[in-house]
Amino acid sequence: MKKIQMVDLQTQYFKIKTELDNAVYNVLESAQFINGPEVKSFQKELEEYLGVKHVIPCANGTDALQAALMALDLHEGDEIITADFTFAATVEVIHLLKLKAVLVDVDPETFTISPEEIEKAISPKTKAIIPVHLFGQCADLESILAIAKKHNLFIIEDNAQAIGAQYSMENPASSSSYAGSFGHLGTTSFFPSKNLGCYGDGGAIFTQDDDLAKKLRAIVNHGMYERYYHEEVGINSRLDSLQAAILRKKLPFLSQYNEARSKVATQYDEAFKVLDGIIIPKKNPKSSHVFHQYTIRVLHGKRDALKEHLEALDIPAMVYYPVPLRKQKAYFQDIKDRSFANTDMLCNEVLSLPMHTELDDTQIQYIISSIQSFFKI
Ligand SMILES: *Cc1c(COP(=O)(O)O)cnc(C)c1O
Repeated sequence: MKKIQMVDLQTQYFKIKTELDNAVYNVLESAQFINGPEVKSFQKELEEYLGVKHVIPCANGTDALQAALMALDLHEGDEIITADFTFAATVEVIHLLKLKAVLVDVDPETFTISPEEIEKAISPKTKAIIPVHLFGQCADLESILAIAKKHNLFIIEDNAQAIGAQYSMENPASSSSYAGSFGHLGTTSFFPSKNLGCYGDGGAIFTQDDDLAKKLRAIVNHGMYERYYHEEVGINSRLDSLQAAILRKKLPFLSQYNEARSKVATQYDEAFKVLDGIIIPKKNPKSSHVFHQYTIRVLHGKRDALKEHLEALDIPAMVYYPVPLRKQKAYFQDIKDRSFANTDMLCNEVLSLPMHTELDDTQIQYIISSIQSFFKI
């Protein structure tokens, strides 16, 4: 059996090696490394795939979030509501821009931000909500969009983990679109292990708004609308041509890749739903799930023991995320007026299992039987 990894980028690469190698060599020969034709073509192809009017490529998913916030004319101390249970980048950029991160609890079953908790956290200073489509499925967008409309707030969807997922609104019925295209802005990451990963860093911002798109293209390029005329303070955050060329070769496989992940998840679900000590990840019926992570909850304080059991059998497993953001040293907040019971519970119970496009049946069965043996089945 091939060694089991959390993510197997090597096997995935070898399946389309010739195409990828040629794409890279073509960029080297063209010597157009920044904002070259590959970047423009990738931008167009992603706009078409996602059905969004504008894709603004940038250097990584963290910059995408930062640029998105910079485009909204916010002021020091303005409040941005986001989840206490997510990757730190979401909160990091809020702090960097001297805005105030207002952290709220998540749903214990889908792991995504709780709309009820968002409502409780709204104040006159609230300007935006950043729902994170955690682990590969959409947050409860319909409720969140309604809250934003009611209170006149911006929505930035952090779609770093759910590119290719689709969400269907109940009202109006049948309006189904890709994650990241519902908010005023959406952001994503092409970090190698993400569902659409390049071979370095990369990211993008999505919007349907012409003015925001124009502003964002300037922000990620030193605030220039016209070359060497700097109208605002920007950043240097560009997707390079090599990464764009790689992404152009991988984008046509995205649906297939997400399908492969989903197949693994179905096998895990079937095997684990009968185990008393495990809660399998719940799917939001309005969202497809692209399983950036397959994350179980391990009950009765046995999470760390299961992790050790698996590691002894050469099966990696990871805790995403072990510490709530409000308890991190860098972002510490002692919040008394809201409960974080779900986030605190999840940090103690979650365990993410190997999940990628190249897991074969032998590996999947080995992972399943190793978990069954821990529960003495
Ligand atoms: C990966 C990730 C980011 C940051 O993306 P980078 O490209 O690594 O900067 C932001 N938010 C979430 C939820 C992520 O998973």
